Amino acid sequence: MAWTPAEERYEGMTYNRCGESGLKLPAVSLGLYHNFGGLDPFEDCRAMVRRAFDLGITHFDLANNYGPPPGSAEETFGRVLTKDLHGYRDELVISTKAGWDMWPGPYGDFGSKKYLLASLDQSLARMGLEYVDIFYHHRPDPDTPLEETMGALAQLVRQGKALYVGISQYKPERAREALQMLKNLGTPCLIHQASYSIFSRWVEQGLLDVLTEFGTGCIAFSTLAQGMLTSRYFDGIPDDSRAAKARSGFSAKKVDPAKVEQARKLNELAEKRGQTLAQMAVAWVLRRPEVCSALVGASRVEQIEDIVSALENTEFTEEELGAIDGI
Ligand code: NDP
Repeated sequence: MAWTPAEERYEGMTYNRCGESGLKLPAVSLGLYHNFGGLDPFEDCRAMVRRAFDLGITHFDLANNYGPPPGSAEETFGRVLTKDLHGYRDELVISTKAGWDMWPGPYGDFGSKKYLLASLDQSLARMGLEYVDIFYHHRPDPDTPLEETMGALAQLVRQGKALYVGISQYKPERAREALQMLKNLGTPCLIHQASYSIFSRWVEQGLLDVLTEFGTGCIAFSTLAQGMLTSRYFDGIPDDSRAAKARSGFSAKKVDPAKVEQARKLNELAEKRGQTLAQMAVAWVLRRPEVCSALVGASRVEQIEDIVSALENTEFTEEELGAIDGI
């Protein structure tokens, strides 16, 4: 029997305008970087996507290289779309990206037009889509002229393969140049996807001001510092955790005891607010008006439920903010 999403799915979620665009994003979005690849049980992935949609999460974030193996997260998401969500395409905001190492040779990495155009065609095929809502350049490229990369993004919008474009992890000065170029091309940059958390605050040093100047929204990723801003590592490294799986970049070595100690102290504050640490970490990035959505990862349905409940308390007193900074 066909799956039917919850009728009340729009009742509990907050939707924020992305910059000065017409597009609203859910305050919590789901990222499929980890736990949705070819090595993960399909039914677990499917259950998380379904539960997220039931909770009002309309935005799902992918990239060409998410897996492992690279490309498999898009394939997984494509299967869920076909099986469960094909009747709901117009209720979804689906993003993907290109910019990191994807295929061998000189045309599968960084920011050439050759790479970006081919990569989006591949992503659309893997997901079984005609277009994505947002296509990002995944990381700055020091060698390709910015005109070429931004020109490729604008071309993809003109071709109808992406509705909006975004950039990710561009530093303020480079972001300013990119946003000006996209504006001149008649394809304003919808969104900047940037790492931002209690532990990593670089966006506050100029980037958010640039985004405001251009009317571009910010979606914050690694809000939970890959799990470090949760209670996940309070009693060692659980076998089913990201650190134990060590599939891409994050491993037990990165579970720094000093950071775990800070997280423990932050957890005490969160408890006083009646929240889990994960909830407080999400609420903390959402306190900034420039941040329209917290983009989080998850390995199980309960984590998504926990995170969405963060929206019940997103206000902070000056005293609480000071205490967080102090830690
Ligand atoms: P997050 O900081 O969102 O951490 C996610 C991890 O935190 C989960 O896998 C889980 O760990 C743990 N977690 C989540 N919710 C809870 C909870 N309620 N309680 C306890 N633990 C919890 O990091 P991500 O790196 O996954 O970033 C999110 C998304 O951002 C990605 O999926 C991707 O879409 C995007 N991203 C973009 C990048 C870019 O360059 N543009 C780079 C990195 C990410 P566990 O698996 O151990 O259970």
